[in-house]
Amino acid sequence: MDFVRSADLNAGNLSLEYNECSICFEHLYKYPIACLLKRQSARACRHYFHEDCISEWTHRNKTCPIDRVDYDSWKSIPSILNDPVEWFSVVDIDQSGSLSREAVLQILEAQLPLDCKTLRSNSDQLWSTWDPNGDGKLSFEEITDKERGLIKYVMEKYPKPEGSEEVPSLQQNLKAWFLHWDEDHNGRLSQKEVTRALVQTFVQTCTDSAQSLATIRQLQNSVQEVWCVFDLDGNGSIDVDEFCLPDGLGESFCCTLNLFHGLKSAQDQRVLSNDEDFDEMELSDYDAVEHVSR
Ligand SMILES: [Zn+2]
Ligand SMILES: [Zn+2]
Repeated sequence: MDFVRSADLNAGNLSLEYNECSICFEHLYKYPIACLLKRQSARACRHYFHEDCISEWTHRNKTCPIDRVDYDSWKSIPSILNDPVEWFSVVDIDQSGSLSREAVLQILEAQLPLDCKTLRSNSDQLWSTWDPNGDGKLSFEEITDKERGLIKYVMEKYPKPEGSEEVPSLQQNLKAWFLHWDEDHNGRLSQKEVTRALVQTFVQTCTDSAQSLATIRQLQNSVQEVWCVFDLDGNGSIDVDEFCLPDGLGESFCCTLNLFHGLKSAQDQRVLSNDEDFDEMELSDYDAVEHVSR
């Protein structure tokens, strides 16, 4: 039993070294990340995971996958450019009002597509720019300094943080939507990438995050169900031309999304009117969605 445990811990350590999520082993920076909290506010440990991964993990566990520290909840971490105040408070692990060098390097490695070795070897020079008073810590004033602050550095080196770019509308331009989500620009999207793109597209237009969670599960299921119909050669990914064909996967998703949005507003009305047949209504609408997406 202990052997399994230490194997797990080793895998976790290895993923740390490569800045991968130790749950899925993909690079952390590729998707939104989260940290673990105890008593709903303080950080439980210094580790980061993909939001989706830790959300899944939390259904079955309440200990950090890497160091087995207990936690109560998790919280997502915004980009330093989108919400510097929240970003700062998360990275300030000990809530001291300033950020340690190690904490800053770790979060940069987790959120940005950078070469960690280069970052570490240049860190003396970078740090002396970011920390003009030389106290070894970064205050909020220092990171927001317009001339030499960390935010300026990130803005110049990584000008397009996740989510800042306008996502093309799926309904208006299938091809632009596909290319936007094809992050490695190889002209293909895997089922996993398609699911993520569709979920994000839905979430962006859905304001109630709590209620959208159930819908996201349903979206994931519908992608799974229609996938084999459209992935004709069965190689697990779909190319841009296949996607954009009349009656192809792209159009099928448009119908699905439209229906889900319709479904959601129907749900909203149901909640407002406190209808007791809510669940039944939801299920029958979902059947309609499945039917159309085939
Ligand atoms: Zn992950
Ligand atoms: Zn941990």
